[in-house]
Amino acid sequence: MGDQWIYLNGEYVRKEDAVISVYDHGFLYGDGVFEGIRVYSGNVFKLDAHVHRLYESAHSIMLDIPYAKEEFKQIIVDTVRKNNLENAYIRVVVSRGKGNLGLDPDLCEEPRIVVIAEALALYPEELYERGLKLASVATRRNRPDVLSPQIKSLNYLNNILVKQESKQAGADEALMLNDQGYVTECSGDNIFIVKNGTIYTPPIYLGALEGITRNAIIDLANENGYDLKEQPFTRHDVFVADEVFLTGTAAEVIAVVEVDQRPINGGTIGDVTRHLLQEFRKVVLTDGVQCYPDKKNNAEA
Ligand code: PMP
Repeated sequence: MGDQWIYLNGEYVRKEDAVISVYDHGFLYGDGVFEGIRVYSGNVFKLDAHVHRLYESAHSIMLDIPYAKEEFKQIIVDTVRKNNLENAYIRVVVSRGKGNLGLDPDLCEEPRIVVIAEALALYPEELYERGLKLASVATRRNRPDVLSPQIKSLNYLNNILVKQESKQAGADEALMLNDQGYVTECSGDNIFIVKNGTIYTPPIYLGALEGITRNAIIDLANENGYDLKEQPFTRHDVFVADEVFLTGTAAEVIAVVEVDQRPINGGTIGDVTRHLLQEFRKVVLTDGVQCYPDKKNNAEA
């Protein structure tokens, strides 16, 4: 194992040396934005979409990223290459930078840009075999007019609090509702249910992040002839669903087999979920940017 190199504002530094000021407003106030991206066999899956969402989040909070999008994409690819990774999780962070102890973002110096790429399996394979348990939580999803779930900001306290609540309830993930009681998403994943052959996912305006995996699954479902609707639903609809699954960069497509102690599909993984995971694991090898175009790519073999 060689050194791990982190991209930090124009330089590659060793993991131990990759440090940020305690005056950085990302640290002091969660003032910044981020992305999580996966690399599969050297293919940075949906790199364009991730960089696009990063820039939209930054634009929304008036944080100027001092690179063109194409340059930023190249930095991400180069960081994977620098660390010689084939399969990896990438974390991109852009914080407001060093300021004073006040809130004013205009007093911050330039943004801090961090790209971390590491060989990390966030979900053990065993979870794909047994499926997840969900618990609905008292804490509601941030209202879009308070802090939009579309801004992938460094302020993830809403998500952390529900993760805590779901663990206290003995579950793996939290089912988050909005202030009207409609299902939105989970702490770090989007949610889908299957009922009588139709797949449903909440419209994002209810208060869910527009997940890139969510959109990929919508495309795959349509391509594979499933009927899919973006439609509001409640906890009850989740309890009586034939199948429930979550999607996310870290989770990919993962079955839910229990919600608030109600078994789903008899506590087993359903066929639609299995099929979509299978299709998803094919598409992740092709839809993206190849880090090692010089090498023969597995996906083309
Ligand atoms: N919802 C939330 C709150 C998330 O943090 C994530 C992970 N980024 C998702 C959904 C899934 O989004 P994606 O598929 O783009 O990873």
